Amino acid sequence: MSNEGIYKPEERALTDAGNRVDDSIIRDIPAFQKPVWLSSPTMHGEELKYMREAYETNWMSTIGKNINEVERMVCEKVGCGYAVGLNCGTSAIQLAVRLAGIQRGDRAFCSDLTFCATVNPVSYEGGELVFIDSEYETWNMDPRALEKAFARYPDTKVVVVANLYGTPARLDEIRAICDAHRAVLVEDAAESLGAVYKGRQTGTFGTYNAISFNGNKIITGSTGGMLLTDDVNAANKARKWSTQARENAPWYQHEELGYNFRMSNVIAGVVRGQLPYLEEHIRQKKAIYMRYKEAFRDLPVTMNPYPEEIMEPNFWLSCILVDREAMCRQARSDLEEVYFKSRRGESCPAEMYQLLMARNAQCRPIWKPMHMQPIFRANPFVTACGEVRDTYVGGRGDASVSADVFERGLCLPSDNKMTPEEQDVIIRIVRRCFE
Ligand SMILES: *Cc1c(COP(=O)(O)O)cnc(C)c1O
Repeated sequence: MSNEGIYKPEERALTDAGNRVDDSIIRDIPAFQKPVWLSSPTMHGEELKYMREAYETNWMSTIGKNINEVERMVCEKVGCGYAVGLNCGTSAIQLAVRLAGIQRGDRAFCSDLTFCATVNPVSYEGGELVFIDSEYETWNMDPRALEKAFARYPDTKVVVVANLYGTPARLDEIRAICDAHRAVLVEDAAESLGAVYKGRQTGTFGTYNAISFNGNKIITGSTGGMLLTDDVNAANKARKWSTQARENAPWYQHEELGYNFRMSNVIAGVVRGQLPYLEEHIRQKKAIYMRYKEAFRDLPVTMNPYPEEIMEPNFWLSCILVDREAMCRQARSDLEEVYFKSRRGESCPAEMYQLLMARNAQCRPIWKPMHMQPIFRANPFVTACGEVRDTYVGGRGDASVSADVFERGLCLPSDNKMTPEEQDVIIRIVRRCFE
């Protein structure tokens, strides 16, 4: 099915962006009539069947067969003991963080290069965020930086690690470091459902793990998420907390703070229809990644990397990183960016972003690191060389890996419905930037 007609406001935004940029170097390349999306929902048919079933049987609620089914299916697919269906992945991380024992004032070590939903739940629970730098090999949390963080803050009891763009972090190393320091690992597998690390699915390496069915993820419920764990008591607690923490009494009896986080049986119907297509989506995403990789072999760029001997990502998003020597000047303020090209053969994410968007191809800068976000400027940030910054002073002189990947990287259109012909146009535009 197509998404035509749904995304009108974004379509307009893309066109507006196109009006402002100097796109003369791609004058001969026409814009896509319809946007090519970064990553958009792909429905297959059964989703509607299960939604309709919920409707026709009046199970329009946060209980019902679809929820039971998707919890069972995810356990089977991922290989975890228990799955708790929730309204979104962010809620799953919040429950995970609470299960991990975060209380007001407790410190948590979190991935620095990630979406804010990895770290915000720690703040919701009153915890204090310490950001951990990335490594170049996976773009995820650097185990060496994590060690340094434990050396500096040895009493820290919770670590939240994200698997960026579908590429697993070094999960066994990170787990071992957590174990050595008696810290609880929370794995944010929101972007990596179906990815495999050393033969095991992501979402099983933390004591508590989160997945997401947000609209742009590899499969979707339009929204929704799950907490995954092997601990039956934790699963029961999460289920209770997610439904307002009611005690087992005839009336509403409350002994602890609850939330309204449970998954809807209608949303679960969508997820139930999508789950059988997870592997198909991964194959499509991998083909897109490999096509980009092959097409850019002679350009001064690399793709988002993964050590293939230890992992198989789900290839949710394809990203490129411009070689340092091929970067033109690029400057970013809090809200805008500019670039200056002084010689042939150099480009930067800002140029590629503007030209691709001008042709209706949706791309996006790499997640802006948390330590660079104004809201988190006062939070400590630890790099692999043990450098601890208590406040962020600004772009210049920031030698962290995460800042560098943000500076030189870009997420390319990675929609599984993108045709090879459409991808060829995107490849042409990227190549043109370096001519
Ligand atoms: C999408 C995402 C989440 C949050 O999931 P929602 O279901 O949108 O709440 C958390 N972490 C990361 C890294 C994500 O990409």
